[in-house]
Amino acid sequence: MQKLGNGEDAMTLSTIIIMPIWRVLARLVVPAFLFSTATYAENTEPPTVHRFVASQEAWDTNAYWIESATGIILIDSQMLNSDASKLASLIKATGKPVEAAFITHPHFDHFAGLDTLQQSLGQFPVYSTQQGVEAAPPFYKQFMAFEFAKNFEGNLTTHPVFPTKTVSDGETMTVAGVELTFHDYGPGEAEGHLLIEVPQLSAVFIGDVAMVGHPNWIGEARLFESKNQLQRLRDDFQATKTLYSGHGDPATPAIASYQLNLITDIEDAVRNARKDTENLGENGGLKRDVILEITKKLCAKYDYLNYFNYPPETFMSWNVYGADVALFRQARSEQTAS
Ligand SMILES: [Zn+2]
Repeated sequence: MQKLGNGEDAMTLSTIIIMPIWRVLARLVVPAFLFSTATYAENTEPPTVHRFVASQEAWDTNAYWIESATGIILIDSQMLNSDASKLASLIKATGKPVEAAFITHPHFDHFAGLDTLQQSLGQFPVYSTQQGVEAAPPFYKQFMAFEFAKNFEGNLTTHPVFPTKTVSDGETMTVAGVELTFHDYGPGEAEGHLLIEVPQLSAVFIGDVAMVGHPNWIGEARLFESKNQLQRLRDDFQATKTLYSGHGDPATPAIASYQLNLITDIEDAVRNARKDTENLGENGGLKRDVILEITKKLCAKYDYLNYFNYPPETFMSWNVYGADVALFRQARSEQTAS
């Protein structure tokens, strides 16, 4: 008897003759199809994005880890030792190595957990932009000197690990089999910003360029730089499916325009108030009561946002103050130029 194949599944010629044609096809085609599907899945199974949210007192900061078939890509690292330790346990449970970490920006809540993570998971290279690499060590010192750092006493690293390797705008890299594209957004919310795009997932990790469900932070007076970042974010990722922010849930690209409107609202209110010299103090900044008045109005408009567990008016007043400093500097440089 002539065999058409080997093994248990082989069909004899007589079986084929008495079987309806669709069953013959099913037996011949389906195993081949299944085989090709399995091969396909093995090579291109999409990596999984995991999100770890900080405990409440640590400003709801997100760290992400991308898990591929072979390894882990870490994006940001948490702030508190206790949070970083929980994150490390989750990663450890996969049994896969961390192949690289990327720090989106040199703010404490995004890089301070690196020490705890490396103690638990071993060494891995840590990347950021050139500005991120330069700004992280001085920011660490500055932060530890703040009075409110005492709130976290015993839960912050005293042996900080900083990003030391740099990536540049437009560069690509394959890590753990996942292709990444980097975008250097320069200063804005922080002194430097690295965005990590994963084309395969139509996703981009945006750090704090745009927050989700929280107001953006312009308390460091980089109002105009923040606006530039948000305009670039809006234009660069119109067709991208998911934006993963440093704070808040995964979002659509609409978040860029939302935050641009919000900080433009702050700018407009401060700019208008500065037109009346009665509102200005001796140092050239808005008087305290004017800042509070603007703050109240903005908080009433944006009362549904999460203010990182601060009283809304406290947080918003820092932003109003930041916009005032930026506009004061702009006016001063225009005077110098003319
Ligand atoms: Zn942050």
